[in-house]
Amino acid sequence: MQAWVIGNWKQNPATTKDVNTLLDTLLTTADDTVSNGCQLMVAPSCIHLANVSARLQNTAILTAAQDISALSDSSGAYTGDCSAQQIADAGATWTILGHSERRQYYQESHESLLEKLSHAFTQGLGVVYCIGETQTQYDNQQTFSALDDQLAVIKDLLIKSKEQAPELVQRLAERLIIAYEPVWAIGTGKVPTVMEVEATHQHIKETVASFDTTLPATTVLYGGSVNKDNADSFAASPMIDGALVGGASLKAESFLAIAHAF
Ligand code: 13P
Repeated sequence: MQAWVIGNWKQNPATTKDVNTLLDTLLTTADDTVSNGCQLMVAPSCIHLANVSARLQNTAILTAAQDISALSDSSGAYTGDCSAQQIADAGATWTILGHSERRQYYQESHESLLEKLSHAFTQGLGVVYCIGETQTQYDNQQTFSALDDQLAVIKDLLIKSKEQAPELVQRLAERLIIAYEPVWAIGTGKVPTVMEVEATHQHIKETVASFDTTLPATTVLYGGSVNKDNADSFAASPMIDGALVGGASLKAESFLAIAHAF
């Protein structure tokens, strides 16, 4: 399966100058990595999206947004929102959705995520859908049930699409990636064991397959404190199809070292 290494830049870098410096280094050193067969993607904050997409056009690095509006896929009186159409128009071809920081700080609900996924596929964006358990859920052996609750959005989207917009089922089949990011591993330096990640990825793949047996095998990435020192251990597992990288994606050298591992 194609490996993916995706940099979620979050609310970084703060200035266009620093974004361009990061891109300069990425662009001068990324070619070998891409020829390894690993697909690279970066997700800058919305304000930098057009610049980053323009600079990455005709390179092998894709661009993603970090979120889209739940309220409209195109335009409307929704102060502060960016729609899927606007994101696509800015040059991005993918979006991250359901990141735990958005679930935590913006109380994203099942319903709003269902809308966002539907809007993304309607506008032809691919989706990196993030799921993961909290520390408490992990401690109480509730990881799988927490993930099942979050995966129910995919199930409901399939049901809704089959009734109302069958073309979205095909888009989901072609352009959905799941990123498993335990909340307790994000930015903490703590990581689950490779065996734990493998068991979880297997559960995710089987669960998505159970929603619709015609879907191809789901690409599942691991995210949470991935760095250039631990990337090899995750990359060695056939159950781990790549990584969603936060902090370590802000330095081209460590981001590309992770990509080389996959
Ligand atoms: P870190 O790699 O900084 O732990 O962040 C992971 C993440 O949240 C990527 O979406």
